[in-house]
Amino acid sequence: MNKPLPVSLEFFPPKTPDGVAKLAAARQALYVMRPQFCSVTYGAGGSTQDGTLQAVQAILAEGVEAAPHFSCIGASRASVRDKLAAFKAAGIRRVVALRGDLPSGYGDAASSEFRYASDLVAFIRTETGGDFHIEVAAYPETHPQAKSPEADLKAFVAKAQAGASSALTQFFFNPDAYFRFVDEARAHGVELPIVPGIMPITNSSGLLRFADNCGAEIPRWVRLRLQSYGDDSASIKAFGLDVVAALCERLRAGGAPGFHFYTMNQAGATLEIARRLKLMA
Ligand code: FAD
Repeated sequence: MNKPLPVSLEFFPPKTPDGVAKLAAARQALYVMRPQFCSVTYGAGGSTQDGTLQAVQAILAEGVEAAPHFSCIGASRASVRDKLAAFKAAGIRRVVALRGDLPSGYGDAASSEFRYASDLVAFIRTETGGDFHIEVAAYPETHPQAKSPEADLKAFVAKAQAGASSALTQFFFNPDAYFRFVDEARAHGVELPIVPGIMPITNSSGLLRFADNCGAEIPRWVRLRLQSYGDDSASIKAFGLDVVAALCERLRAGGAPGFHFYTMNQAGATLEIARRLKLMA
C-alpha cells in the first residue's frame, strides 16, 4: 500500500471579485487533499504583491500554511527587508524565493541589487536566520536562459548552499529529466527535497503556449494527441488525466518526495489526479 505523499498547491492571485470567490471555492474543494502548504504566485501577468499577500492571508485564515512567491529582480535590499518584516507580521513562515523575470522596460538586470535567486536566499538567511522555510525553483529540463544544463545545475546548487530548505520544480512531462536532475544535484551534495511540479492538462492551446514560454517540453506524442482533439475538451481532459496520473505514478515509484500541483485556480483536474493516486487516503 502506498503511503500518501505530502502535496502542496499553487494558486495565482485573482484580479476580480468573481475570481476571488472562485478561488475560495476551489481551495475549499482542494483542502480534502490536506496540503502541506499552498503557495501564491507573484508578478506573472501583472499581478501585484498586494494580491499575493491578500490571497496568502485568506489561506492562513483558513488554517492552512501559505507561502507567497517572492521575486527579487529589480528590488532593493531595503524593500526586501520591509517585505520580510511584513511577511513575519502576517504570520508567514514559508516563502518561495525567486529571481523572477525582469518586466520589459524595467532596465538592466545587472544593475539590480539582486541578480539571482541565490542572492535573495542568502539575504533572507542573513537577515532572518531560520525564521523562514525557503522554497526555491528547480528546472529538470533546464531554465530557458541558462548558458548550459551544467551552469543551471550549478545555479541550483548555489541556491541550496545559500540556505534553501526545499525546491519545487518547473512542470515537465518527462520523468527521466527529473530523476537525472535529482541524481546530479545529489552528486553535488544537495540533500534538500526536490518536489516535482505537476501541471494538470485541462486545455490544449493554453498548455502549449505556457510550456513554450517557460521552456517545458511537451513530448511530441502528447502534443499531437492534444492537437488532434481540436475543441473536444472532454477528450483533452480525459487524455490529460491519464498522462499526468501516469507521470505521477512513475515519479512516486522513483522516490519523489511529494507533489506540487499547479492548480491554475481550478480544483477538478488536481482532485481527480489525487483520487487516482489515492493521495488523500
Ligand atoms: P535563478 O535561480 O536566479 O536562475 C535564473 C537564471 O540565471 C537561470 O538561467 C540560471 O541558470 C541563471 N543563473 C543563476 N545563478 C547564476 C550565476 N551565479 N551565474 C550565471 N547564471 C546564473 N515567476 C514569476 O514571475 N512569478 C512567480 O510567482 C513564479 N513562480 C514560480 C514558481 C516555480 C516553482 C517555478 C519553477 C518558477 C516560477 N516562476 C515565477 C518563474 C521564474 O521566476 C523564472 O523562471 C525566472 O526566470 C527564474 O527565476 P529563478 O528563481 O529560478 O532564478
